[in-house]
Amino acid sequence: MSVLIFVETNEGKVKPSSLEAVAYGAKVADMLGSSATALVLGELAQEELESIGGYGAKKVMHAADSRLNQINLLAYAEALAQAVEASGAKVLVMAKSSLGDPVAARVAGRFKAAFAGNVIELPTKEGEHLKVKRSVYTGKAFAYTILKGEKQIIAIKKNILAIEKTDAKATVEAFTPTLDDALFSRVKTVKVEKASDEISLPEADIVVSGGRGLKGPENWGMIEELAKVLGAATGCSKPVSDMGWRPHHEHVGQTGVKVSPNLYIAVGISGAIQHLAGVNSSKNIVVINKDPEAPFFKAADYGIVGDAFEVVPKLTEALKKRLGK
Ligand SMILES: Cc1cc2nc3c(=O)[nH]c(=O)nc-3n(C[C@H](O)[C@H](O)[C@H](O)COP(=O)(O)OP(=O)(O)OC[C@H]3O[C@@H](n4cnc5c(N)ncnc54)[C@H](O)[C@@H]3O)c2cc1C
Repeated sequence: MSVLIFVETNEGKVKPSSLEAVAYGAKVADMLGSSATALVLGELAQEELESIGGYGAKKVMHAADSRLNQINLLAYAEALAQAVEASGAKVLVMAKSSLGDPVAARVAGRFKAAFAGNVIELPTKEGEHLKVKRSVYTGKAFAYTILKGEKQIIAIKKNILAIEKTDAKATVEAFTPTLDDALFSRVKTVKVEKASDEISLPEADIVVSGGRGLKGPENWGMIEELAKVLGAATGCSKPVSDMGWRPHHEHVGQTGVKVSPNLYIAVGISGAIQHLAGVNSSKNIVVINKDPEAPFFKAADYGIVGDAFEVVPKLTEALKKRLGK
């Protein structure tokens, strides 16, 4: 059962979540005694394409069609479906994302394939099929799903796999899907503008988040400074954004942004279930709270009981020294 991995790019680079999908797909291919091929849509430098081999893909199919440089759901789904056919892949792997999910759904519909999203572990084999563990109900439960289809599609959550990069280079092969112009005319992206230079919260590897314990917006400087030292994005609890201390796009939780960074630092946040629902797939959670009974400590990997106004500046200074900043 050969494995195809759908790779997303951004500003000339493969997205980290897609590199994880490549590593995951390569491990699945090993398990199946097969090999992994990655699919890249749109123009990308040869060096970047070859480097995908360092994550386990032997081959990269590259559709260097400039019309694919900007995301177009219909065209992407069509190109991916044609790549599935051309490669004869039985298993398709991709990162769970705002692009991956709808593309996967379309391709699954096309092939009447079995699709599982939110997958958080490598699969096991159940006869001819794969069995996956999925995070469901905003991380409060797990579902074990057997993919009963001739083609099986897996969309993985971020940060579920330790990635080891090697110097291996993938063989790059040109791939020319037949894409009707009509696919590009129905919805056309005219321009993409970055809202700011801030690190994108859903994609961030480290998030420093603050809650009502910070007392007011005038105290956010220390959160921003800690985030700057760590190269992190900033987040907040819902009441903080409701009160206008921080913008709404920073609100993390069940009704806000869901994050799954390697490191989530929660400062002065109680840890209500609605907040936890948005952060519980973080790999490491550090909680700073002056109340030792704060519920967040139950979900924490590391906890500091103390006043944020004392702890955070000291932590920032220590990190500055340690990281040479
Ligand atoms: C339908 C629904 C959806 C919701 N969705 C979300 C959501 O998506 N995201 C979300 O965050 N919330 C959400 N909420 C709100 C949620 O229930 C909590 O009210 C909210 O998360 C609490 O925010 P907080 O922890 O910042 O504030 P608080 O509950 O007021 O907690 C503040 C914490 O700061 C600590 N503290 C105080 N002073 C200091 C100090 N000097 N140093 C260190 N620690 C200090 C306190 O001990 C306390 O634990 C939702 C609620 C509902 C009903």
